[in-house]
Amino acid sequence: MPGRTAWVLADQLSFENPALRGADRVLMVEAAVRPGGLSFHRQKLHLVFTAMRNFADGMRERGVEVDYRRSESLAAGLASHLAEYEPESVAILEPNRLGAGERLAGLDPVVEIVDETLFLTEPSRFADWASGRKTLRMEDFYREQRRRFGLLMDGKEPAGGAWNFDPENRKPPPADIRPPKPYRPREDETDEAVRADLDRMEAAGLETSGEDGTRIFPATRKQALQALRSFCRDRLPTFGPYQDAMIGGERFMWHALLSSSLNLGLLSPLECAEAAEAEYRKGNAPIASVEGFVRQVIGWREYVWGVYRLRGAGMKEENALAADRPVPAAISGLDPSATEMRCLGDVIGGIRDTAYAHHIERLMVLGNLFLTLGVEPKAATDWFHSSFIDGFEWVMVPNVAGMALWADGGKMMTKPYAASGRYVDRMSNHCRDCRYTLKERSGPDACPLTVLYWDFLDRNRELLGSNRRMWMQMKNLDRIEDDELEEIRRTATGLRDDFSA
Ligand SMILES: Cc1cc2nc3c(=O)[nH]c(=O)nc-3n(C[C@H](O)[C@H](O)[C@H](O)COP(=O)(O)OP(=O)(O)OC[C@H]3O[C@@H](n4cnc5c(N)ncnc54)[C@H](O)[C@@H]3O)c2cc1C
Repeated sequence: MPGRTAWVLADQLSFENPALRGADRVLMVEAAVRPGGLSFHRQKLHLVFTAMRNFADGMRERGVEVDYRRSESLAAGLASHLAEYEPESVAILEPNRLGAGERLAGLDPVVEIVDETLFLTEPSRFADWASGRKTLRMEDFYREQRRRFGLLMDGKEPAGGAWNFDPENRKPPPADIRPPKPYRPREDETDEAVRADLDRMEAAGLETSGEDGTRIFPATRKQALQALRSFCRDRLPTFGPYQDAMIGGERFMWHALLSSSLNLGLLSPLECAEAAEAEYRKGNAPIASVEGFVRQVIGWREYVWGVYRLRGAGMKEENALAADRPVPAAISGLDPSATEMRCLGDVIGGIRDTAYAHHIERLMVLGNLFLTLGVEPKAATDWFHSSFIDGFEWVMVPNVAGMALWADGGKMMTKPYAASGRYVDRMSNHCRDCRYTLKERSGPDACPLTVLYWDFLDRNRELLGSNRRMWMQMKNLDRIEDDELEEIRRTATGLRDDFSA
């Protein structure tokens, strides 16, 4: 049976995958142990394997033969496929992970890389856009994307008369507001089989993190489309105002919960943006919310992808702030009882139970804490990558190393996202019942985020002092009396040691 095989990877589960064109059969390889030895969240493995098996069934329903292999590695899976089928060629869409394409093509001469992507932006297009620019401003890239796809455009002008509605968004959560429940897929026999397989693998030594639980995220194209529809109907209208807000115990707020579907290839970014625009055009959702969502999908997501491809894998080795601490055990163990910080406990508990935290929890609670503690960027990136439902290298490296930890020294973000506990207080209800206080900047009762924030500015005074965008923060630091600063340093050292223990 020679013929042509299309090899489909776990994050390429689109029926429009260009590698499928003209294929006689599909190869899929399920390998639980990943390069780099990361231990993934149990629910992430569950989602990925379920989605892969469902995709294989979907191809079979379309009349395509599928060779689905469980193997200890992709290379071993390919080798056994080649031995059994002897195909003339094995076409594979260029993997998102840098270097993986070369490695896979190097496994056997019949492997051919299809030089396309499931993103809207080819790496060469992003490189053209970036070339000659001093700074790669997401806002500039985003506006070009809007024009390019005619999204939320009224002729040459942005719909609603502005490109950016941030001032109308980013509101703190009102006390009595409760988000609508998100779409939940129904589990089926494929889930059951995957669960049983994972139980067996764990019994045989596979390490995972987090808790098992009923699957929350879509594992088929049909479910992903239902999730998109449900988001657009129930949550999009209020997405904008509260996209930065946090409420204790409210895991999902008004967020779309579509990142895993997009990253697996179950949805395309353009159809998500178009679905949101349609709600605006029908008068069902205000421009501020729709623009905020479209910005995330065709702006931030594509920008992060472009930056990863442009800067290369070396980006994860950068460490401009010489940060050298490990990921705190309280966090890597996903044990909320290991901290008395309410914001952190809430986020950690959420990740343990769902493998999800929303953007502000990732950036301003976890990222902020990692940044100000001085967690080593590679360790932080690996932890995020393995713990989240939507973690893949292309998206983790720029978001964690570039955006959250400023490891590239400002190539991606002009200034570090460091904030004191006051930010969390403004944007959440966590601080009300927290045992720490915001009234002090040092000592055992002071909010750790606040202590570490001032200590971070102080430790990096030289580097950050020349950054014009840090001017106000550094001026405030200068206002702190020497005695108090000494206390802050002492408290911060204790915290840094406690977190590293
Ligand atoms: C430290 C850190 C780690 C992150 N890790 C990941 C990750 O592993 N995988 C991942 O997909 N996103 C990651 N993000 C980006 C973003 O936080 C998630 O995409 C988002 O929280 C997913 O939830 P949602 O689908 O409910 O998104 P929403 O808040 O509803 O946003 C809509 C969509 O926009 C896209 N998006 C928005 N911001 C980004 C961004 N910065 N990068 C990429 N896509 C974006 C996502 O596809 C998302 O589904 C990370 C951000 C930070 C700060």
